[in-house]
Amino acid sequence: MFNRPAPLSAALPWLTTSEASFASLGIAFATPTEPTPLPAAHWVGCNDALRAELSLPPDLWQQQDALEALTGNFVPSGLTSYASVYSGHQFGQWAGQLGDGRALNLGTIASPVGLQEVQLKGAGPTPYSRRGDGRAVLRSSIREFLASEAMHGLGIATTRALCVTGSPGHVRREEVETAAVVTRVAPSFVRFGHFEHFSSNGQIGELRALADHVVVAHFSALQDLHGAPRYTALLREVTQRTASLMAQWQAVGFCHGVMNTDNMSVLGLTLDYGPFQFLDGFDANHICNHSDTQGRYAYARQPQMAYWNLFCLGQALMPLIDEQAPALAALERYKISFPAAMDQAMRDKLGLIGAHEGDRALVEDLLQALQQDRVDFTVFWRRLSVAVRESTNLSHAFDPVRDLFLHREVFDAWCTRYLERLGTAHRQTTGDAMLRTNPKYILRNHLGEMAIRQAKQGNFAMVQDLLQVLHAPFDEHTTYEAWAGLAPEWASTIEISCSS
Ligand code: AMP
Ligand code: MG
Repeated sequence: MFNRPAPLSAALPWLTTSEASFASLGIAFATPTEPTPLPAAHWVGCNDALRAELSLPPDLWQQQDALEALTGNFVPSGLTSYASVYSGHQFGQWAGQLGDGRALNLGTIASPVGLQEVQLKGAGPTPYSRRGDGRAVLRSSIREFLASEAMHGLGIATTRALCVTGSPGHVRREEVETAAVVTRVAPSFVRFGHFEHFSSNGQIGELRALADHVVVAHFSALQDLHGAPRYTALLREVTQRTASLMAQWQAVGFCHGVMNTDNMSVLGLTLDYGPFQFLDGFDANHICNHSDTQGRYAYARQPQMAYWNLFCLGQALMPLIDEQAPALAALERYKISFPAAMDQAMRDKLGLIGAHEGDRALVEDLLQALQQDRVDFTVFWRRLSVAVRESTNLSHAFDPVRDLFLHREVFDAWCTRYLERLGTAHRQTTGDAMLRTNPKYILRNHLGEMAIRQAKQGNFAMVQDLLQVLHAPFDEHTTYEAWAGLAPEWASTIEISCSS
């Protein structure tokens, strides 16, 4: 069934096991697990920009050994692949033990941008697969690949995706699909759920070892602290990072879809792309996950849900922090950090300098107007940026923005207030700054869907072209102008299920 026999002991020299890696925590954390091979592996998407950032071999995409290893067809010599155990709260309920059900950690890359962990998603069952098959389908793998890189292009903290490989091997979902594997890269894949796991099991030694690993490897500014102050500071830092991540998600219209504590990164990275969606028409109540019947993770609720998740993390850290008051104080920071980050993000989007009293009302009224007419979130901000830039020379500069609204009088009234606040000076440079803040290209559902449909036919050109464009979402890409347009009618019929 294979193209050629899988090599038995080839090494990938750039992939090693660092003493500072998660695996160094030992067997209680990392359960040795072999990947399960897939037939006839082929490249689906290759992220050459990330390859270069990590200083990986220029001919990586020509290496058969790399293709086979990153599909899980053999474990490079010198490495022990493993799955990690974690628990978590799912949709507000304690779910008990979960774990890497379809992620296998291979090793680390000592890269110019620091030590990176490498993880295969979809390389077969693990001791934590429960009833799952340990596989990922082509469709969801392409979505994760493009979304990770779109977020990175937008300047939003995220796990990265080095490549997707595919196989004709079958995977059964609602229908039979083909298998794929995403190679994910991040400084750490530690989740809130890892802490919850050891804490809920009363494994306090392991809990402390995990917290110390995270502090030493990823929050080095805190490593001179010891005992409870160290873990309180860790909670405060994670709170801070999560608050700024939420502001970034909201500002760009990103909906994660499954913000369970097992999908929350302790480094404040966007993690686990499933039924995510970037908003097309603005709807604060938008629910992108069809399985989320209560709308727990609706767009506007994300910041609140992140706070709820941080409480779970705080709870898990209590055996190390001892006293409630400092833990609560660390979490309390969210109530200042998130609104501050959000206010700043919106001022940046509007091109406003300094903080004025009426700014929040200006933003709220705008969002209400966008909501009323379901105005496309991305197109609105981009047109507004262009209008500000052109408004020095053009008397009707704001007409293309106005055209997006059904209730023109509502926009006109808002725009008058906005221009008053904006002032008349430096419109061109302000507009330029707005164009670097408000992206032209986002990974709209229908774009991902088009790339997936072609990929299913064996044509991966659009996956690759979208990757290029999404890596530079603030630039003009004249060949791909159509990808910056409004979502077509059929986009609303795309159903993103939790099955992936
Ligand atoms: P998610 O909601 O996708 O973050 O997944 C929740 C849990 O289910 C995690 O522990 C995953 O590893 C696991 N999981 C999801 N899909 C599969 C699958 N196809 N096979 C095994 N485990 C899975
Ligand atoms: Mg997950």
